[in-house]
Amino acid sequence: MRTPLIAANWKMNKTTEETRDFIIQFSPMVKDINNVEILIAPPFTSLAVAAKYLKGTGIKLGAQNVFYERSGAYTGEISPSMLKDCGCDYVIVGHSERRQYFHETDAIINKKLSAAQEVGLSVILCVGESLEQREEGKTFDVLKTQVSRGIEGAQPAMLVIAYEPVWAIGTGRTATPEQIQEAHGFIRNMLRETFKERADEIRILYGGSVNAENAHTILNIEDVDGALVGGASLKPDSFIKIIKAKGAMK
Ligand code: PEP
Repeated sequence: MRTPLIAANWKMNKTTEETRDFIIQFSPMVKDINNVEILIAPPFTSLAVAAKYLKGTGIKLGAQNVFYERSGAYTGEISPSMLKDCGCDYVIVGHSERRQYFHETDAIINKKLSAAQEVGLSVILCVGESLEQREEGKTFDVLKTQVSRGIEGAQPAMLVIAYEPVWAIGTGRTATPEQIQEAHGFIRNMLRETFKERADEIRILYGGSVNAENAHTILNIEDVDGALVGGASLKPDSFIKIIKAKGAMK
């Protein structure tokens, strides 16, 4: 039985003060939530303050990106061990915004995944097709390429996949339950081919305009093990509703 994971991707939002205020308000709301792992991924600049205020809450901390080298002359980059040092448990790699705006390829993403797992960080690998690719009937080809190249050499115990159709991110459009189940089922089969029975340890999250209103439907789809949430994770009130759509109370 996989523990559901509900993860907040704050993207380039929140100062250190806003991060602190969110956690002070949010953490009492989840103290009675059972059976759901909760993760917050703030910007790099808020990791230290988030680690301080998350201490003892059970809420996990993640980063939104990482570089694959251990140290050295890589101006502006952050290494996996620096994230560990800040108190991170997770890192997101391959988000579509990084693929699109920062030209990250599957090869780069795979190097990031390996380097992160090497220091004990769990990795959320994001995959998903663009609208154009879906309309051209290429969804499964895209998923096949992104998943197979992304997970090369990965350790299943420290791996989470997030299926995020690019056309559903930040647009208010969500995939239908049928589209989500079809994609998740496809990814699950791919994971089984690679990792055999260990594939059952890997959670597959859905991401793309998940909100308080649609969370219940999405999180109850058979092969959905949780959600990666952008916009609706920025306010404690909406994020908690998504968590409660999945979590049982103690
Ligand atoms: C995301 O950035 O991963 C995401 C799913 O964003 P949103 O929920 O805002 O669509």
